[in-house]
Amino acid sequence: MKLFHILPNKSSGRLLQPFWDYLRLRHLPLISSPFFPVLLAFSSYLFFSIPFAVLDLLGERVPLFNQYKIQPDRRPTVAMMTKSFMTAMYNHIFFVLPTVIISMYILPTPILPQGAPTLYEVIIDGLAILLLFDTQYYIWHFIHHKHSQLYRWIHAIHHEYMAPFSWSTEQLSIPELMTVGLWSNQDPLLLKCHPVTTWCITVFSIWMSVEDHIGYDLPWTLNHLVPFGLLGGAPAHDMHHQKPNSNYAPFFSHWDRIFGTAVPQKKKTLRR
Ligand SMILES: [Zn+2]
Ligand SMILES: [Zn+2]
Repeated sequence: MKLFHILPNKSSGRLLQPFWDYLRLRHLPLISSPFFPVLLAFSSYLFFSIPFAVLDLLGERVPLFNQYKIQPDRRPTVAMMTKSFMTAMYNHIFFVLPTVIISMYILPTPILPQGAPTLYEVIIDGLAILLLFDTQYYIWHFIHHKHSQLYRWIHAIHHEYMAPFSWSTEQLSIPELMTVGLWSNQDPLLLKCHPVTTWCITVFSIWMSVEDHIGYDLPWTLNHLVPFGLLGGAPAHDMHHQKPNSNYAPFFSHWDRIFGTAVPQKKKTLRR
């Protein structure tokens, strides 16, 4: 089988191969660290939330954006933003990081493949991860709204504010964060996805989650770019925070349509 090594790698023609080789050869300690997915997820949350926090603070001084505010009479204060962010920070420091440390001793070290995925694989596998997660969260979310004890102890903290804002994306109880974290980790393994696909979807799904909570129905967000209303986006999830027995799905709209839980966004109250 020596011959195999001198033959050109069949994956070498792949578009992402140079990028994958660069990551493997130059940043191996970082990308193979069990802390990397957490670092990627938390920094995405920070990076995507900051611009919308600035918009919230500027408010009416930026009419270009302010005209799209879904609940214009409900604006987050600095205290609300700080509370949401500190909750996310606290959960990560005291629960997520210790869980990663414990899992280092229990789970085997994953072996990184040599070949990169094709772009097609990234898109199709990525879509499969999103669809699976969307289904799991729809069921979990529905149950946690129907069972009063589960709601009070596990999900209510996320519903503290009727008008969501970017930082409130991760204002979650520890059990909710751990459940979501478990699916985010295990779904790609279950679907045998390439690490590049997993990381792309981590960043993309956090963008979608933040977009759900920004509180602005911007005309260029994903729910407007993807046709047929396939994605709920901020209008659907904002409505969930106003009317909690509706729009349970985090990303797509099909489960809410099938089960009759889809509720369209109320008319804006800005120009009454
Ligand atoms: Zn929410
Ligand atoms: Zn909810």
